[in-house]
Amino acid sequence: MQAYDSVVIGAGQAGLSASFHLRRLGVDHVVLDADQGPGGAWQHRWDSLTMDDVHGVADLPEAPAPARGTERANVAIPDWFGSYERRFELPVVRPVRVEQVTREDGLLVVHAGTDVWHTRTLINATGTWSRPFVPRYPGAETFSGEQFHTARYPGAEHFRDKRVLVVGGGASAVQFLGEVRPVTETIWVTRQEPIWRDEISEFDGRAVIRAVQERVCAGLPPRSVSSVTGIGLRPQERRAQELGAYHRRPMFERIEPDGVVWADGSREHVDAILWATGFRAALGHLRPLHLLTPQGGVRLVPSSQDVQTATAVVEDPRVHLVGYGPSASTIGGNRAGRAAAVAVRQLLSPTSGGSQPPNILVDCTIP
Ligand code: FAD
Repeated sequence: MQAYDSVVIGAGQAGLSASFHLRRLGVDHVVLDADQGPGGAWQHRWDSLTMDDVHGVADLPEAPAPARGTERANVAIPDWFGSYERRFELPVVRPVRVEQVTREDGLLVVHAGTDVWHTRTLINATGTWSRPFVPRYPGAETFSGEQFHTARYPGAEHFRDKRVLVVGGGASAVQFLGEVRPVTETIWVTRQEPIWRDEISEFDGRAVIRAVQERVCAGLPPRSVSSVTGIGLRPQERRAQELGAYHRRPMFERIEPDGVVWADGSREHVDAILWATGFRAALGHLRPLHLLTPQGGVRLVPSSQDVQTATAVVEDPRVHLVGYGPSASTIGGNRAGRAAAVAVRQLLSPTSGGSQPPNILVDCTIP
């Protein structure tokens, strides 16, 4: 039976960074990826998202990200990832959708259909895209119009002449309103009053990441980074702003066949609901390892270096999560990928005796 030193699950930014560094460090590994081709979640983003629209994609190790411009992000980034995999001869195998990971005789066993991979360590880089989140509201199943989640946004033209309700207070909702409002009527609802970025006096990226890290340390499910950074309008959203798209209403109470009803009894007719309500970490395949806290998060051991380099799981430090919680961004995925590869290398070294890597602290104090 062959046992790898490491298996990486997922070939998005975080998984590619991990694989690059594992290769550099001489760690024998394989990368298992569920998609048909390279690109991670980017290959599934909507067609109108151009490189000018994305917030910013960090460079991969030794490979600058595609330039800003009008090229579609779902073309430019998959092309870049594909050439990266080839250039650095990363051992990506696809399509392989991992169904579960178990423990057996001191090893971790990765299962996909009838295939199994035995490994000493695991780096999980499965992102969030395959787990869209739609909150439950009474009556949702009775709605006779169309409902879409961000993951299936069909583009603004699809909504022409329909009344569209956009739900959610993050960057995707702001962007959809920017596209849809110029072609039709929209209503925007959010759970909380949106916090506009220019209202935050001292925008401190590190403090934001730290806030996410505190939740992860406490074993709570991570919130999206935009829930703590606030949101901003870009030049391409000015037209929608002039048309009143960003006048926000509180959440409705229930859904009816032809619209939504608020607690005060007021109602709006809508033809379509666009749920820009985010994603959750795709960790279902790790369930047999019992890593989840009762609150639904996974506790990570804090790193002594940087909050984005906390990757080892408290309950089983052979397992590392990258692109999770404070590292759920392209720059975070890069840093976490490197940190996980280094920690795995240390864990495998004969002198470590298979114990916890030395760069981790034992309590949950944020350094
Ligand atoms: P992904 O890119 O999602 O890659 C995960 C990979 O894991 C996929 O290839 C998938 O096939 C694979 N996988 C999943 N489950 C399994 C399984 N069970 N078995 C095998 N393989 C599996 N971040 C930024 O820094 N800048 C931005 O501009 C930005 N824009 C964003 C826009 C949107 C709409 C969203 C939702 C997020 C955005 N983000 C952005 C956050 C962004 O998702 C991450 O930065 C980055 O794409 C995540 O990379 P990742 O490697 O963690 O995951």
